[in-house]
Amino acid sequence: MSGRLALITGASRGIGQAAAVAMAKAGHHVVLIARTVGGLEETDDAVRAAGGSATLVPVDLKDFAALDRLGASIFERWGRLDAFFGNAGLLGALSPLAHLEPKLFEDLMAVNVTANWRLIRSLDPLLRRAEAGRVLFASSSVARKPRPFWGGYAASKAALECLAITYAAECADTNIRVNILNPGATRTAMRARVMPGEDPNTLPTPDDIAPLIVAMLSPEWTGNGELANFREWKRASG
Ligand code: NDP
Repeated sequence: MSGRLALITGASRGIGQAAAVAMAKAGHHVVLIARTVGGLEETDDAVRAAGGSATLVPVDLKDFAALDRLGASIFERWGRLDAFFGNAGLLGALSPLAHLEPKLFEDLMAVNVTANWRLIRSLDPLLRRAEAGRVLFASSSVARKPRPFWGGYAASKAALECLAITYAAECADTNIRVNILNPGATRTAMRARVMPGEDPNTLPTPDDIAPLIVAMLSPEWTGNGELANFREWKRASG
């Protein structure tokens, strides 16, 4: 996969950070998006230590005009994009729907849904110019099995999955393949914040998930519009 170009959102920590390092190790130049410059720089250090290279883009995904400019900048510099991992996500607060703060609900939809649609819109021409454009979105089991108190997050991930499956169908006759990853409970800051009583050592780490992400963003992954569940993949692959 040498010489491929990958864009990863939410690359300042957690699953996105591990994905960035693993994709760089697999031969990609990685374009990394998040708000926290210090976190992006940590990822950059890890990418360099692995022998790779990164371009850091500190941006708030709610700045939709910046996402339009990003597509134009990638076109000017590289002319194409081989892989896009829409990983950044917001969980917000676990709360009954009737008590969810309106601002939080708007943020959930803006970051988890609208930003990914704006990125599809901005990056689609670049993915079409790649030999084997690959797109992957990070979802959650609650998208298909909603449960009390997770409603805002679950609704946003269900909408994201709907976008992904629609885009996959629209790309069926192209070189682009679009899929969904459910990492399952993973040892990250997001999980620790909503499950403070849980022993993090019982959970897979982002580095455990990263090989599946690399595989799903590789030209060899030919599935389209499919959902991969990390734990099932792990069991199947031994
Ligand atoms: P973290 O909270 O650890 O990391 C989230 C990432 O998203 C950070 O890099 C953060 O960067 C970025 N991000 C959040 N909001 C914005 C924004 N407005 N603009 C730009 N970047 C933003 O999450 P995880 O690594 O745990 O989760 C990654 C994905 O996996 C998410 O989509 C999540 O929903 C999903 N997932 C996670 C599970 C888990 O147990 N961890 C389980 C199931 C799904 P910064 O704050 O620097 O902007």
